[in-house]
Amino acid sequence: MKCPFCTSSLSKVLDKRTVLGRGEIRRRRECLKCGKRYTTYEHLAELKILVIKKDGRREPFIEEKLRLGLLKSLQKRPGLDKVPRLVDRIENRIKERGLSEVSSEKLGEWVLTELKRLDPIAYLRFASVYRSFGDPKDFAREMKALI
Ligand SMILES: [Zn+2]
Repeated sequence: MKCPFCTSSLSKVLDKRTVLGRGEIRRRRECLKCGKRYTTYEHLAELKILVIKKDGRREPFIEEKLRLGLLKSLQKRPGLDKVPRLVDRIENRIKERGLSEVSSEKLGEWVLTELKRLDPIAYLRFASVYRSFGDPKDFAREMKALI
């Protein structure tokens, strides 16, 4: 992002990002060098998202990985054809917030929220992997919470 007046790349953001209809983020900026104000547009699709793992490592967000996890959970379930839409919705959650990083925990919770709404069986399947259930009691507890 360079200032159109003096081409300095140092600026501060004046307002919160506004997400426009076509996947653009609009930001008002003030140049720190010449003090002039200008507006920038960034495309959401160009944002690279990193997933922060539990051990603090970061790896790129891979849509395909999310898709496979969802397919597995929805295997032989009526919501199977909704997988592409779920992937979109989860990706949009990240992008709408303008995040460039998301923790794997948060990501998992968003998936669970979507699945809970769609199909309780798929929800339990995903939760059992994601929360690494080691005991039938874990299942019982989740099921109780569902009901
Ligand atoms: Zn400037």
